[in-house]
Amino acid sequence: MDFREAAAAIEGDLIALRRELHQIPEIGLDLPKTQAAVLAALEGLPLEITLGRTSTAVTAVLRGAKPGPAVLLRGDMDALPVTEENDADWVSKHVGTMHACGHDLHTAGLVGAAKLLSARQADLAGDVVFMFQPGEEGWDGAGHMIAEGVLEAAGRKVDAAYGLHVISDMVPRGVFTTRGGPMMAASSGLFVNVVGKGGHGSRPHTTLDPIPVAAEIVTALQNLITRRFSVFEPIVITVGTFHAGTRHNIIPDNAKFEATVRTFSEEALAQVEKESVKLAEDIATAHGLTAEVRFEREYPATVNHDAEAAFVAETVKDLFGDDRYTEMPEPVMGSEDFSRVLEAVPGSYMFYGATVKEDPAEGASNHSPRAAFDDSVLADGAVLLAELAVRRMARG
Ligand SMILES: [Zn+2]
Repeated sequence: MDFREAAAAIEGDLIALRRELHQIPEIGLDLPKTQAAVLAALEGLPLEITLGRTSTAVTAVLRGAKPGPAVLLRGDMDALPVTEENDADWVSKHVGTMHACGHDLHTAGLVGAAKLLSARQADLAGDVVFMFQPGEEGWDGAGHMIAEGVLEAAGRKVDAAYGLHVISDMVPRGVFTTRGGPMMAASSGLFVNVVGKGGHGSRPHTTLDPIPVAAEIVTALQNLITRRFSVFEPIVITVGTFHAGTRHNIIPDNAKFEATVRTFSEEALAQVEKESVKLAEDIATAHGLTAEVRFEREYPATVNHDAEAAFVAETVKDLFGDDRYTEMPEPVMGSEDFSRVLEAVPGSYMFYGATVKEDPAEGASNHSPRAAFDDSVLADGAVLLAELAVRRMARG
């Protein structure tokens, strides 16, 4: 029985698990209900299971009957602080929390791969590490798991790693897409507090008004991008929060804003780190105020290894046909902590179309309260992960 036939037999269980997880979304590194559901689903499989110490991670190792490479497969498990606006009978029961990025499908899909591969344990020449990861959405769950040894869970460093992410729009349902080289951006945060001196709104000359100064910095950051970086260097700065003041006739003491910064190259990151901080400080100084500025590097860029991305493409086409694969034309500016795994070992990340719409352009995007993911894609996602592990082991 090949993986596709075997997956058809467990598809109902995977969909049921996905819908169970969808109703109990949890945020961050602490996902007790999700972890319990994963452990229950893995019950009875021949896996060596280790639980996270600093998070509710689950690491499961399947030992093949014969020696060979160790392959890591990853599924992230966390949800988002979004109030779901869908109307299935299995929508989120946790008010204000939603699996709006489809990680419920990643978790169920990885359980599927564990089941498919466990049934083949006697034929496997190598080991598989299943990385059930919490805290992808800004909590560095991958960093926590790497620090606790997930990459060496098989007793030696894994030889390759693969992960996939469902997309609720843009990509046609059932289509896999990836590319060699950079696939997703590095993300950083810029935190600025402009400190002035408040007073009466009618007498600004007796104050140090932080609002126009902070506004000037916000505008100047966009000039920094267009004037100081090559147009061929992808870089985004978006100011996502700006807070100051309490009432129209009061000049506040300070104004704060936060920006996300997306880059690809280390050179661009080092430059924007240095120059954005200097720009904010110097503009404040020019007006007689001060700026407290913090630049925090979050996730590195997600860079696929060329040969592994090509291997993914070839495997998809071979398994499901040429029309199920499309080459990603360009990277996206989103970021992902699987990047930490790919910094340490060869591998590839990939996107997987799971839109519920016939025209993917009509789907609500990931992170939207109306994001919807079609769980008819689950079985093939599990098959691909299992097949990648087996074929990668066969390569030696
Ligand atoms: Zn996600």
